[in-house]
Amino acid sequence: MSKLDRWMREIFRQNRQNRQKIKRSTLRWLPIVLGFLLLTSGVLAFSIVSSQAQVSQAASLKLTVTPNPPQLGDTLTAIVSSPNSSSNSSLNTQPPVIQSGNQTYPAYPIGNGRFRAFIPTTPLTPPGKLQIQAQMGNERQSISLNLRSRSFPTQRIWLPEGQDGNVSDWEFDQVDAFKKTVSPEKFWSGPFRRPNNGPVSSIYGIRRYYNGVFADDYFHRGVDYAGNQGSAIVAPAAGRVTFIGYEKDGFKVHGNIIGMDHGQGVLSVFLHLSRIQVKRGDFVKAGQTIGLLGDTGAATGPHLHWGLYVNGQAVDPTPWRDPGFE
Ligand SMILES: [Zn+2]
Repeated sequence: MSKLDRWMREIFRQNRQNRQKIKRSTLRWLPIVLGFLLLTSGVLAFSIVSSQAQVSQAASLKLTVTPNPPQLGDTLTAIVSSPNSSSNSSLNTQPPVIQSGNQTYPAYPIGNGRFRAFIPTTPLTPPGKLQIQAQMGNERQSISLNLRSRSFPTQRIWLPEGQDGNVSDWEFDQVDAFKKTVSPEKFWSGPFRRPNNGPVSSIYGIRRYYNGVFADDYFHRGVDYAGNQGSAIVAPAAGRVTFIGYEKDGFKVHGNIIGMDHGQGVLSVFLHLSRIQVKRGDFVKAGQTIGLLGDTGAATGPHLHWGLYVNGQAVDPTPWRDPGFE
């Protein structure tokens, strides 16, 4: 065997050994490699899933509702914000749809990509579970609250037969149309003021029995102030005078009445005035005198009835005075 032959054979042998070594080593390492691959792909898949979960969490709406728990007569504040709103311009401009039950309430921007809607409750709202839902783009969020019941004082009213026979639908239709006013601009600022200096003679929410029969639909839709005849009635908050009615023109129950729009679905009515000192379309500041207290319409004595309406429902004005709504 020549030197060259041995050399060639040696190289060949080494090559074969190397190939076998490689084969053996491949086989030896294959499960570990495969295991490693499986593990890393698993970790990778897990990290993708978890990052997706983080993404959907980051994209989800934030919905807060106060007060929690609320009670009958409370105005609920629902605030919706989307952490993605700054990166998605359509979410910035499109307000969310806010619902309670099957009612939808208008939401208005309050800065930083947040929107607010007011949800009114009254003594006629069924207490118990209240589901508030918000939808913005494709995202949804909901909160379940327990609306607490509340016992309201009761009155027993005895009327002679046919007492309310001369109440006209026209008068109530006029006032009801005003109560549906919703305008986007917000005029009030901070807590509402007391509209008259007189003592409160009837609180919000009083229920009635007429001739011994409980009136399912009746509750006192406001607060009465037993001030002096002719004392000043001031605007509890800034707003636009959008409704005026006179007893002489057929407002036999409400008497001389002013309706004021505080904006974003919040309205006031002032009843039984002796004099009205504003006109329709006037913009008034908080504390400005708008009329004088009286006993026009269906009033047993001089008093101011102040009703506060939120999205068409008479709410308890008390929380609007203290602490107030931003
Ligand atoms: Zn009243």
